[in-house]
Amino acid sequence: LEVIRAVEPRIADAIGQEVADQREMLKLIASENYASPATLLAMGNWFSDKYAEGTVGRRFYAGCRNVDTVEALAAEHARELFGAEHAYAQPHSGIDANLVAFWAVLGQRVEVPALEKAGVRNVNDLSEADWAELRRAFGNQRMLGMSLDAGGHLTHGFRPNISGKMFDQRSYGTDPTTGLIDYEALRVTAREFKPMIIVAGYSAYPRLVNFRIMREIADEVGATLMVDMAHFAGLVAGKVLTGDFDPVPHAQIVTTTTHKSLRGPRGGMVLCDSSLADQVDRGCPMVLGGPLPHVMAAKAVALAEARRPEFRDYAQAVVDNARALAEGLMRRGATLVTGGTDNHLNLIDVASSYGLTGRQAESALLDSGIVTNRNAIPADPNGAWYTSGIRIGTPALTTRGLGAAEMDEIAGLIDRVLTTTEAGTTKKGAPSKAQHILDAKVADEISHRATDL
Ligand code: PLP
Repeated sequence: LEVIRAVEPRIADAIGQEVADQREMLKLIASENYASPATLLAMGNWFSDKYAEGTVGRRFYAGCRNVDTVEALAAEHARELFGAEHAYAQPHSGIDANLVAFWAVLGQRVEVPALEKAGVRNVNDLSEADWAELRRAFGNQRMLGMSLDAGGHLTHGFRPNISGKMFDQRSYGTDPTTGLIDYEALRVTAREFKPMIIVAGYSAYPRLVNFRIMREIADEVGATLMVDMAHFAGLVAGKVLTGDFDPVPHAQIVTTTTHKSLRGPRGGMVLCDSSLADQVDRGCPMVLGGPLPHVMAAKAVALAEARRPEFRDYAQAVVDNARALAEGLMRRGATLVTGGTDNHLNLIDVASSYGLTGRQAESALLDSGIVTNRNAIPADPNGAWYTSGIRIGTPALTTRGLGAAEMDEIAGLIDRVLTTTEAGTTKKGAPSKAQHILDAKVADEISHRATDL
């Protein structure tokens, strides 16, 4: 830090403060984790200075032999770990991985010259009308993805994301009574809509997805099944999700982030069967710039870690902890979407449990040293900004060695913070800290507990 401080002290301070915050607070954001020192060190080094557009052994720059080693190792570890035919380690993030996958499927299934016919030079210049024209050129390609309020992700075909401009999108949701994916309703929608791509995977669904059934539906309507396992890749790597719940044997293409439950550096990856390998390898320069060799080095290290037997214990503990948290919360009267969890996350309905919006609950918990994020629940009356839910996940605290007993204690702390938080309004009010009357004792207890960690 002193080296950085000599150049820009405010950055050194921000890094120091971030380390302190991440140590002192209870990190329950379901998409976060703590990467190992080996992973962090592999990322912070001179590989960052190297350009290497292209793929292993086929670069547009000279001097890439070490980058080749790193990229080949990252891909090899990924193939071995997940049992995939092909792995592509370049995507800079989950969104980039999804973009590579979409273009790979389009490249495999659509005449790519259609792009040229549509006269595309710079996609940033495209208007809505241009996008419509482009979609026509692509033959009105369609994507079926999980709805946002049921737990899907923006990149699964929603308007604010480029996927919603590339594809005509329709969503599948969850059964209003059980909160679970309704595969028969999905099948009916797929038959009627005839998508080119069915996207499975989620950011906020607390249950398992049956990828065997998803593939069966995709085959029936001639769609490609793409699974975005960004959230649960660590559970697949740790062999907690196997058989019908392991996406790799069922989907033609699987994308992931590497920094969530997988506990690697920030980044993305694509796994696919060999029929899509050539298309996927065109990710750079199709939609990616030069790869980040330092991050690929860190991916290789993290994937090597995930291949160790200890990682299986870790992945199992993540799920056991999520269950313990769910039980602790429900025992204290909280309502959870779907009534519990089978994976690494829980979604608390804070509107019906505590009369709060997600935003109020998120803010009250943060004031007490518990970091979470607000999240829409199915058919959320408070919309996507205020929301009625709080998403809590266990990957990070499990990495820190916490177990079921601590999860129950944390459930107690969350419940006390939320029951002692004054609601203000659960509708679109302007929640502020002034609306939270926190029990000082609870706040003390939490900071005491957090410093012990
Ligand atoms: N896919 C899913 C399911 C996600 O939950 C996320 C991030 O939250 C992403 C993709 C995007 O990942 P990134 O932030 O690395 O672009």
